[in-house]
Amino acid sequence: MDHLPAELLSGYRNFMGGRYATETTRYRELARKGQQPQTMVIACCDSRAAPETIFDAGPGELFVVRNVANLVPPYEPDDRHHSTSAALEFAVQSLKVKNIVVLGHGRCGGIRAALDPSAEPLSPGDFIGKWMSLVSPAAETVTGNKMMTVGERQTSLERISIRYSIANLRTFPCVKILEGKGRLSLHGAWFDISTGELWIMNRETGDFERPEID
Ligand SMILES: [Zn+2]
Repeated sequence: MDHLPAELLSGYRNFMGGRYATETTRYRELARKGQQPQTMVIACCDSRAAPETIFDAGPGELFVVRNVANLVPPYEPDDRHHSTSAALEFAVQSLKVKNIVVLGHGRCGGIRAALDPSAEPLSPGDFIGKWMSLVSPAAETVTGNKMMTVGERQTSLERISIRYSIANLRTFPCVKILEGKGRLSLHGAWFDISTGELWIMNRETGDFERPEID
């Protein structure tokens, strides 16, 4: 029989002896009462940008959906399988989260792929290419700007795509209505893997700024 990778089993052993042991009461309470997270985070799959780690969140605190390049597709009520929209629907309508954070990050491979449309698909399905085509108008504009360096284009599209995802969140009627009533707020953030810096999107200007933290 195949086993889980050894590092996962030893990590689990550490979890049971460490975090689970110290938070047993919390886990039991969450099991009994159910989850009531206040915040949904839409983050990238990238193993270096885990929202629970960045925000030092405990069990039950963050409702997280992760996909390639933390994109939110537009509202499309058709018969296709919309995993991110399903998570969003549950977070907003059932859990009634108060905040949604779109968390982007530096050196994002999905964004890099969007900036290089000539790259060969990784498989015949080209799932990444189709998924990243959500931001292709912005990617084409950025790629066409020869004044920018490769690194500047990358960071620009990472941040533009966060604003794009927030705009798409507002195409969901439930999000738009609740935001209008002041019961839901939408936020953007960008995490720099190499320095640990977190940049927060100014909701009026769309610019990314460093928050004041003590
Ligand atoms: Zn990424």
